[in-house]
This record gives sequence, structure tokens and C-alpha cells, in this order.
Amino acid sequence: MDLNNLVNRVIVPALTRCVDCRKGKDEHVSADHEFKQDEKLPKWHGWHAARRGLGTNLYRLGVPEKTIQAILRHANVSTTATYYIKTAAADAQAAMAKLETELIGQQTGNGRGSTSERLEPERSRN
Ligand SMILES: [Zn+2]
Repeated sequence: MDLNNLVNRVIVPALTRCVDCRKGKDEHVSADHEFKQDEKLPKWHGWHAARRGLGTNLYRLGVPEKTIQAILRHANVSTTATYYIKTAAADAQAAMAKLETELIGQQTGNGRGSTSERLEPERSRN
């Protein structure tokens, strides 16, 4: 199998769809309106980006790093963690929210208030 043929014949046509009628460019020739690309669909950025997206999405689904390493056929798990699992800002926010929930859960009933209240800088009292 030629991977460039797979990209040109299968992947890119699947990502090239008219926003109005969902047809690909080849089928769209006979349509009564102009082809307008659906911008919600991802763009093809090459095999490295596809592998990185696969690693990141598997990680978000909770798949262990060692399993992702095996799927991507890396010799070393540090390669997988460093280059193929991309944590987004949303992941960092979710992680911090989870941490805050855990901390609040441990302090229930001690009257100290929420974590975010305690982390705010103290204001002067004058
Ligand atoms: Zn159309």
C-alpha cells in the first residue's frame, strides 16, 4: 500500500465536504450551488500529526501510556509521552478542577472555605 495514495484517495476526500449538502468535491460538480468547505472538519496535516492526534485522543480516553506506546510502536515510552501526547489547556483546566474538588472534599466541615477562597491574596483591612 502506498500511504500517499491512501491520503489522496481516502483521507483527504473524506475531509473535503460541502457544508450545505455534505457532498465531496467530485460529486459536487452537478450541484446547483457553489462548493463551500465545511470548516468544522479537521484538515490533513500529515502522518506525524495523525499519529500525535491518535496518541492524544487515546490518552484522553484513559488508555495507559504503555498501551499507547505499543499502538504507536515506540521503543521507549518517554518518546510517546514527550512527543505524541499533547495536553491542551482544557486538559490542564480539568486537572486543576479535579484537584480542587479533591482538596475541598478532604476539608469538608472544618470551616475554612473553598480552596479558591483560601488561595486568593489577602486584602488590606483599612
Ligand atoms: Zn454543496
